[in-house]
Amino acid sequence: MSRYDNLINGQWTAADSYSPNTNPSDLSDVIGEYAQGGAEDVQAAVAAAAAAFPAWSTSGIQARSDALDKIGTEILARKAELGELLAREEGKTLPEAIGEVGRAGQIFKFFAGECLRLSGETVPSVRPGIGVEITREPIGVVGLITPWNFPIAIPAWKIAPALAFGNCVVLKPADLVPGSAWALADIIHRSGIPAGVFNLVMGPGRVIGEALVNHADVAAISFTGSTGVGRGIAEACVKSGKKVQLEMGGKNPQIVLDDADLAQAVELSAQSGFYSTGQRCTASSRLIVTDKIYPAFIEALQARMAQIKVGDARAAGTDMGPVVSQAQLEQDLSYVEIAKAEGARLAAGGARVACHTGSGKQGFYMAPTLFVDTEAGMRINREEVFGPVASVIRVKDYEEALAVSNDTPFGLSAGIATTSLKHATHFKRHSQAGMVMVNLPTAGVDYHVPFGGRKGSSYGPREQGRYAQEFYTTVKTAYTLA
Ligand code: NDP
Repeated sequence: MSRYDNLINGQWTAADSYSPNTNPSDLSDVIGEYAQGGAEDVQAAVAAAAAAFPAWSTSGIQARSDALDKIGTEILARKAELGELLAREEGKTLPEAIGEVGRAGQIFKFFAGECLRLSGETVPSVRPGIGVEITREPIGVVGLITPWNFPIAIPAWKIAPALAFGNCVVLKPADLVPGSAWALADIIHRSGIPAGVFNLVMGPGRVIGEALVNHADVAAISFTGSTGVGRGIAEACVKSGKKVQLEMGGKNPQIVLDDADLAQAVELSAQSGFYSTGQRCTASSRLIVTDKIYPAFIEALQARMAQIKVGDARAAGTDMGPVVSQAQLEQDLSYVEIAKAEGARLAAGGARVACHTGSGKQGFYMAPTLFVDTEAGMRINREEVFGPVASVIRVKDYEEALAVSNDTPFGLSAGIATTSLKHATHFKRHSQAGMVMVNLPTAGVDYHVPFGGRKGSSYGPREQGRYAQEFYTTVKTAYTLA
C-alpha cells in the first residue's frame, strides 16, 4: 500500500500516523494511505511559509506567472489520469471528474495571466505638490481549508490566486479525499517554486484546521465547507485579526414558471439536482413550480430521473456515482425520514440501491430522490442535505415563486426557467443569491468570473476571476512630496 506524506518546506515529510483513502464506489478498494499530520506539522509548515515569504513576494511577476503556467500545463496534460483518481476517491463520474481537473488547470493558466495584470492607481493629492499611489501587496502566509466535494478545483481556485499575488500557502485539504490534493501538491512542488512557498498538511480538521486558524503567523484564512464550521472559523479569525473568506452551504432554488420550455426545465432540474450525486454547494434542492405546469413537470421529471443510472463512478454508462461516505449517506437517508415525517410525499427514490452494472460492488449508492407536496417551511426545504435529494414546492405565480426562493437562510445560487424576458429580468435583480441562472442549471459556473453567495452561504470577498485579488492582496496608499 502506497503512503503519501505531507509537503513541508519543500520536503515530503512523514507523519506519526496514516489513514486509508477508500473508494466510495467499491469499499474493498483502498487508494493509498495518507498522512495524518499534527499541530507540530502546521507549526513547521507555517514557519517555512513565513521564511519563504520575503523572497517569493518580491520575486517578480514573471517568475510567478511562469510557475503557475507550468502547473496549469501539467494538470491539463494529465487530465484523464487525475480525473480517474478524483472519480475513484470522491465518487463523481469520470466525465465530471475529468471536467473538474480541466477546470483546475484552466484556473492556474488564468492566474498565470492575472498576476501580470495586477495594477494600481496614481491620483492627485488634495494637497498641492504631493502625489498619491495606491498599490496592492501580498498579505503573507495564507491558510487554505477545503471540502471533499471538489477535491482539486477548490484547492486550485484558492492556491492559484494566493501564489499569483505573492503569498505563501499552507493547504489543509479534506481528510476524506486527500489524493487529488496530494497529486496537485506534487505538481506544484516539481514546478520549481522555492521551498516553503507552498506546503500541504493533511489530517483532521479539528487538529490541522484549528492549528492553522489559531496560528499567529497566518495572516488570512480562506475556507470552503459547512456553515457551522465556517462560522467558528470566522469568530476565531475576527478575534485574532485575520482576514477571512468563507464559502459555505446552499439551499438553492430552481423556479419553473408556467411559460417555461418544459423539456429544458426538466433537464436543467435533473442536472443540477442529481448530477455529482447532488453534492455541489450550487445544486438545486428546492424546485419551485407554478400551478399550471406543475403536473406535467412532475411527470416528466420522474421519467427523467428513472433514466439516471447509479453506479461505480468510473464505469461506462454511470450518470450518478455514489454518495461520498457512510456518514453522508446516513445524513441523506435521515433527511428522507425527516421529510416523510413532515408530511412530504416521496415521488422517487428515497433509499440505497445496487450498482447499475450488476457487479455487486459494495458502495454508498443512493437513488435520486424527489419529494412533492412540500411546504416552504419544512426542514427539507430549509436545511442543506448535500445529497441527491430535491423537493418540489407548488406556488401560484412568479411573485410567490420569487418570495419562496428568497425565503432561506442561504443565498448561493438561484435559477429560473422561463420564456418571459420580464420575469427573467426581474428575477436577476431581485433574487437574493450571489449567482443567478436563467434557463441554466444552478450548478455549473465559469472560472474567470466571481463565485460566491450572500446570507449564510458566504462571508468576505468573492473568490475567482479578477475579484480574487480583493482577498489575496492588501491595499497600500503611498504619498510622495514632489
Ligand atoms: P466541513 O465544514 O465539514 O469541512 C470543510 C473543511 O474544514 C475540511 O477540510 C475539514 O476537515 C475542515 N474542518 C472541519 N472542522 C474544522 C475546524 N474545527 N477548524 C478548521 N477546519 C475544520 O465541510 P465538508 O467537507 O463536509 O463539505 C461540505 C460542505 O461544504 C457543504 O456544506 C457544502 O455546501 C460546502 N461547500 C461550499 C461551497 C461553496 O463554494 N459555497 C463549495 C463546496 C462545498 P476534515 O477533513 O476533517 O473534514
